[in-house]
Amino acid sequence: MKYEPVIGFEVHLQPKTKSKMFCSCSARYFGEKPNSHVCPVCLGLPGALPVPNKTAFDSTILLALALNCNINENTRFDRKNYFYHDLPKGYQISQFDRPIGENGYIEFDLGKDSKRIRIKRVHLEEDTAKTIREGGTTLVDFNKSGIALIEIVTEPDFENIEEVDKFAKRLRQIVRYLDVSDADMEKGQMRYELNMSMRLLGQKKLPEYKVEVKNIGSISVLQKVIQREIVRQTGLLENDQTPQQETRGLSGMSGDTKSMRLKETSDDYRYFPEPDIPPIMVDKKWLEEIRSKIIELPQGKKHRYIAEYGLAPDSAETLVSSIPRYKFFEECMLIITDPKDKKELAPEIAKWMIGELAALLKRYGQKFAQIKLDASDLVELSAAFLHGRITGQAAKRALEIAFTTGKSIEKVINEERLGVMNDVVEILKLVNEVLEKNPDAITNLKKNPNAMKYLVGQVMRLSSGRANPKTIENELLKMLRLN
Ligand code: ZN
Ligand code: MN
Repeated sequence: MKYEPVIGFEVHLQPKTKSKMFCSCSARYFGEKPNSHVCPVCLGLPGALPVPNKTAFDSTILLALALNCNINENTRFDRKNYFYHDLPKGYQISQFDRPIGENGYIEFDLGKDSKRIRIKRVHLEEDTAKTIREGGTTLVDFNKSGIALIEIVTEPDFENIEEVDKFAKRLRQIVRYLDVSDADMEKGQMRYELNMSMRLLGQKKLPEYKVEVKNIGSISVLQKVIQREIVRQTGLLENDQTPQQETRGLSGMSGDTKSMRLKETSDDYRYFPEPDIPPIMVDKKWLEEIRSKIIELPQGKKHRYIAEYGLAPDSAETLVSSIPRYKFFEECMLIITDPKDKKELAPEIAKWMIGELAALLKRYGQKFAQIKLDASDLVELSAAFLHGRITGQAAKRALEIAFTTGKSIEKVINEERLGVMNDVVEILKLVNEVLEKNPDAITNLKKNPNAMKYLVGQVMRLSSGRANPKTIENELLKMLRLN
């Protein structure tokens, strides 16, 4: 029997805020001295009163809208009761039956099709303190306690790891596009909680059990956990056992997990409305104000690049996957005024950006955001190459010089004499030079047309990559006919 995974997520995301979710303590806790960003509210002292953070609230509405959710006009906070040492007040302020957003989706492409992952809910809550285990002692740092967290819950719509990977990347892009969060996973700003089970291939019903894995802080570990769980759960099912409904925790970074506790149900949390915070009404005016901040998002941008500029889907995907990259590309497009020229040059510009320019950035250890090259120079280079004013080899050299010196492409081409060599007399001189060194070349060429490539390459080398390869080939063909 064949089984397939059924996967869903809860994603916790730290929105960019100056202060914590319900107090005025600074939210910039990363790397700070333990317990230096605390007050009675985030320490959970009795009698302290929470005041919701407006920025966090606005960011949650913005993200929920971008994820195509309905926004609850009438929303509120609830107490989720559980006791743990990182939560001394005995409850987390979260949202239960009236989250900020519900019933949305994220879309991404999968081969020629697109896939929608449904978003069940988007709500706002507070983070807990950080637990540090040190030689048999448990220490608690409350700097993270009370940090705002947006929780995004998906439906169990994932059927394989590729979908998980694409979803995780698309979600992170959306969050960054909207500047809701840096979503830096290394700083714990975005964390995944996985729930998954296995069902017989082709079955539509959800399995009776579900295994949760908490606190996964990187997309690669997430993939490993899924792979391990597929093996572990399939093994149990094949032995006629049903996997336990339980919560598991990571042990190390290998993707291995171990059981933490048998799963609570939502009844165990005894949710009830937070009495210290009144319900919050999101009226039309507030909603429209936030809606106006939604910019073009990666999926839409990608498909516009394909339709408007004729880019290949893979190129378009690569360009929209980072903000500095798509901004550089759009700067190029702004420089070209004629829509016809745009369509002609865009695929060429994309090719140089994804290929040679990306390689240069890597070689010199730079990021797109720091690039010295002007967008106008890449437009210039792409046009020069496309219209045969420079050969591919020479264009690569010109790009590297402009990239490292910050000089304009035009200047580099002139100074280094990199423009294409079209002069037939000059090229013929080089051709003859090569033939002198290879006396049998023409005879060989008659027998084997593939020798042409080698000869053109030799002449190109003599010209430092500048001679027009078409002209070289024509001259050689002429000689072939004369012989
Ligand atoms: Zn505080
Ligand atoms: Mn949560």
